[in-house]
Amino acid sequence: MMAILALVAGVAVVSQITGQMRNEADARLDAHVADVALAVETTMNDASADIRLARQNTVFETALADTPGQLLPADRAAVEAAITYLGERYHVDEICVIRASGLEAARWVGGKGVAAVADLSADERQNNPAVLPTLPLADDSFYQSDPYISPDSGRWVIGIATPIVLATGEHAGILHFELPIARFDTQIAALSFGGTSFNMLLDTDGRLLVHPDLARFRAAAGTATDVGTAPFPLAVATGSPSWRDAIAQILAGGSGSVAYDDNGKTYRVSYAPVAGSDRIVASVSPTNELYADVDRLLLNLMLTAGPLLLLMLLITGWFTRRMASANSGLAGLNHRLEATNAALESTSRTNSDLASESKIVNQFTELTALTEDDISLSVATLATLDELVHPGDASLHVSNQSQDRAVPQATLGKRDASVLSLHELGRCPAVRRSNLYVTDDVTARLAFRCPVYPVETGTLACIPLVALGETVGAVHLHWADPHELSLPVRLAMMRVSEHSALSIANRRLLLALRGQADTDGRTGLTNSRAFDEAVQRRLAGRAKNERAAVLMLDLDHFKDFNDRYGHPAGDEALRVFAQLLETSIRDQDLAARYGGEEFAIYLAGLGMGEAAEVAERIRERIETTIIPLGPGKTGRLTVSIGIAVAPDDGVELVTLLRAADEALYRAKLAGRNRVVTRDGEPDGVPATAPAIRQRRTAKA
Ligand code: GH3
Ligand code: MG
Ligand code: MG
Repeated sequence: MMAILALVAGVAVVSQITGQMRNEADARLDAHVADVALAVETTMNDASADIRLARQNTVFETALADTPGQLLPADRAAVEAAITYLGERYHVDEICVIRASGLEAARWVGGKGVAAVADLSADERQNNPAVLPTLPLADDSFYQSDPYISPDSGRWVIGIATPIVLATGEHAGILHFELPIARFDTQIAALSFGGTSFNMLLDTDGRLLVHPDLARFRAAAGTATDVGTAPFPLAVATGSPSWRDAIAQILAGGSGSVAYDDNGKTYRVSYAPVAGSDRIVASVSPTNELYADVDRLLLNLMLTAGPLLLLMLLITGWFTRRMASANSGLAGLNHRLEATNAALESTSRTNSDLASESKIVNQFTELTALTEDDISLSVATLATLDELVHPGDASLHVSNQSQDRAVPQATLGKRDASVLSLHELGRCPAVRRSNLYVTDDVTARLAFRCPVYPVETGTLACIPLVALGETVGAVHLHWADPHELSLPVRLAMMRVSEHSALSIANRRLLLALRGQADTDGRTGLTNSRAFDEAVQRRLAGRAKNERAAVLMLDLDHFKDFNDRYGHPAGDEALRVFAQLLETSIRDQDLAARYGGEEFAIYLAGLGMGEAAEVAERIRERIETTIIPLGPGKTGRLTVSIGIAVAPDDGVELVTLLRAADEALYRAKLAGRNRVVTRDGEPDGVPATAPAIRQRRTAKA
């Protein structure tokens, strides 16, 4: 449809343009024929003007007035000089003076000159068609005859005449000359429209006076073909019917244009009457020449605009097809738009959901930083998931420290959860795959039912608690009715679970690190646990009678020291003492910070005496050590030491520690700053120290 419209529009535009160009060509032909008509008219007018001008020469009036017969010799000479001059000047065939009586008074013929008086006609009124019509005309007017064959020149002429009116008012005769029609041939031919176009001259009777192929018409009319003497043929003597029709229209009068076909060619004729005469000028042009510009334009259009038009048609066709498919696609697009709108609405809902989700998850994150054990962390995890996705019931299992059981640390709703073996927990699809597993509808035929959390209806979400590549537990969320879990909901569940698992794993790692640390952070000495383990090992691996000593050391009045110098100074003092201990023992011995200001030493292979020496050296050293406590401040400390030795006091760590502790107690009681052995009964201090023993037992 579009293509047709485009084509019609294109054709309309082109035909508009070419139509206008044809009109312009026609107008040019019309204008041309008007020019030709004017030229012919001008020629005639010029001739008449010339003859009237010539007549105003007084020689003609005078000569006719002087005598009624042949001219007087003087007058004749003047008249003959005048007509010779006029004839030559105006290129006429013949010029003559005829009296009103018909007597030819003087004559000049082109190429022959002035006629002898003897050759002059006695009465020209019958021979010359111009005499009688001209005689009665007013002065300074003229007469123009139809073409006739001049008796003098023997060719077709048009006679033009003007009356000679005397001063008395008498019409004495006429001045007459003959214009050869050949002059119009030349003139008209010179006024060519171009190409093979031609001009023709007809009279109102339909006779062709000027035509480039006049002989053909003469032949058709059956008249003589001698151009000079044969009569002018009728224009309709030959030619096509349309030519004859065109002639008929031309003869109908006025000016205009008409087309005709002849011999397979089309011609256009513009015609116009020659004013002041009964002749018609016509200009004939073959239309292929007349409209050559149009044809050229059309050709150019074909060559230049044609491809463009073709391209336009192709584009239009393509566009039309695209429009068609676009229209059909529009319905689908509308559907998609509706779907998009719906999705946008749900997205905006989801966005607000996400905002509140983020808030909940952030709260949970803060909470996990504050919770100190698996149980409170598990409770917080389930509470957060409850806030986010509102399950009907849920449970959270966490594997124990020894990694052999999964313990239900928190539950939601009416749900009993039992301790599972890790193997049992491993049957949960989420744990097995280390990924979220949702059973949309557990009643569905092919639904997998999680053995860890058996339910009969609704939706079950199994979420593994995986951190650092290790499964530390699992969360099970259950909705009694089938519950659609959107992607954002699933992601939120995963986020919370991941964070929970990470918290659990981090806590365990921390605990493990702490547990594995053998060193006391403050003093750099071995801690009590490491000391116990090490000493136990050594005692166990000791040869049967191999001796070993255990020393318990406690700083004296350390509370006072703290009170006097401040707690940081006390810390520094602890470090100084620890250093002192380290430098007082051998490599195979072991010193430990056993509690606040209590220390323990294991002396490998030493008996009581040797051990006592070491202890005494330590006691002396600290006693003599000046402890720097900042600028201009120093402190002093003393230590009390109790000693026990294996195998005499026992072979077990606990026994030896207790014995050493008892000795220490007695050292305190004895006044401090001393070394006491099992056997030692310094200064009557009771050997039994129930309080100390109790404490040691509890600690062990
Ligand atoms: P005694 O001679 O009977 O042992 O008297 P004491 O003050 O040393 O004993 P007590 O058990 O009454 O006080 C022990 C003090 O040691 C109390 C506590 O503040 C201090 N203490 C324990 N550990 C540290 C510690 O790491 N740094 C500091 N600065 N003081 C500690
Ligand atoms: Mg103490
Ligand atoms: Mg103390």
